Amino acid sequence: MPSVHIKTYGCQMNERDSEQVAKMLADRGYELTDDEDAADVVLLNTCSVRDQAEQKAIGKMGHLRSRAQKQGRNKIFGFLGCMAQNRGRELLDKLPDVDLVVGTQRFHAVAGHVEELLSGHGGKRILDIDHAEGSQSAIRDHRLRPGQVTAFVSIMQGCDMFCSFCIVPHSRGRERSRPIHEIVDEIKKLVDNGVREVTLLGQIVNLYGRHEFPTANGLSPFVQLLHAVHAVEGLERIRFTSPHPTGLKSDLANAFCDLPKLCEHMHLPAQSGSNKILRAMHRSYTREIYLNKVAALRTACPSMAITTDLIVGFPGETEDDFKETCSLVKEAVFDNSFIFRYSERKGTPAANLPGQLPEATREERNKILLELQNEITTGLHEKCVGTLQEVLVEGESKTNDERFYGRTRQNKIVVFGRDEKLRGRAVPIKIIRSTGFTLYGEAVHDATTEADKL
Ligand code: SF4
Repeated sequence: MPSVHIKTYGCQMNERDSEQVAKMLADRGYELTDDEDAADVVLLNTCSVRDQAEQKAIGKMGHLRSRAQKQGRNKIFGFLGCMAQNRGRELLDKLPDVDLVVGTQRFHAVAGHVEELLSGHGGKRILDIDHAEGSQSAIRDHRLRPGQVTAFVSIMQGCDMFCSFCIVPHSRGRERSRPIHEIVDEIKKLVDNGVREVTLLGQIVNLYGRHEFPTANGLSPFVQLLHAVHAVEGLERIRFTSPHPTGLKSDLANAFCDLPKLCEHMHLPAQSGSNKILRAMHRSYTREIYLNKVAALRTACPSMAITTDLIVGFPGETEDDFKETCSLVKEAVFDNSFIFRYSERKGTPAANLPGQLPEATREERNKILLELQNEITTGLHEKCVGTLQEVLVEGESKTNDERFYGRTRQNKIVVFGRDEKLRGRAVPIKIIRSTGFTLYGEAVHDATTEADKL
């Protein structure tokens, strides 16, 4: 059978979509390969959040195509996902060697299209970017590696928030959520196959089901889902990403008290600490509301780790606005932040705003904020030294296979000595050292007994 190479650019959702496509191809008998030169079919699943990612993928396609020409190979090349959705026909027009362009609601159709192209109807090229009813339920199959204990589960697609800098509502469409029973069935199967921790995925994951399902007993559809997932026997941990501050209400904060499997970590994108900039971004909260929500969350769950996304250099951001973001970082005491330099995204309202800042200003602010966050993160990690943490052991460290790594309930990575008895289990690890971002630990003497004590 022909071999297929799939390369993914972007977020966990793109990874999850690629996994679904890979599974469908494997089920049809295709061999999946990591070797892009050896593959008969090369598919690039590409993020469109940043223009840079798109340019990188287009550049990559050019290299692959010229290497294939030198090898005298006649390969199938395709773009999938957000960039394919946004650029559509333009990709086929500009890149004559691209055979396939498939959008974000048509991943389930990729295997069929590949088959059609390989069957050799000479010169045929396929563009498939239509809306597909029910496509949110198409991302449901997994290709688990041996010993895999964590998995991502896509619970919804799209976003209706229309932040002024973001292309997602255009590339991923309107919010559409899967029914609870379908998600629970998928998780039960994962657990039957050894998975111990699931991360529920959605662009605004805590607003799951708001258009489809009613609130019940004061619980939003998302919190109802958390309760249903929590009841899955054998599942040990639940995470989710990324929530929107607007959907963070007391029912969700209380879920961290009521549901012991729910890990004490929330990635809660703030984007800016300036109310003026938040308004220009079309974020529906102020810094005061955001900070109150963070405080309420920590009151409900004092051990909560909070991470965030921040954009610096948004159009019109003054020095004072930037200082407001720095002060937000200090007040919220984020465990970590993903800091992005604003980059114009064609097709978004922010790209046309006055007051676009020079790249040097964006870079400088990025550097200052990064240093501030690093200082906070390092301090918080140092405080972990000497504590006992429950760590779900995921496998060999990527840089040293004499070591294992896993994550604490607060989603901090811990590296420790390899011990096969610990593989795939949630075990207590004593933190002995911290190097800024990584914690190093050692398993406590009697892991089996101690795990129950945490
Ligand atoms: S909520 Fe997130 S995904 Fe939705 S438009 Fe805003 S930034 Fe984009």
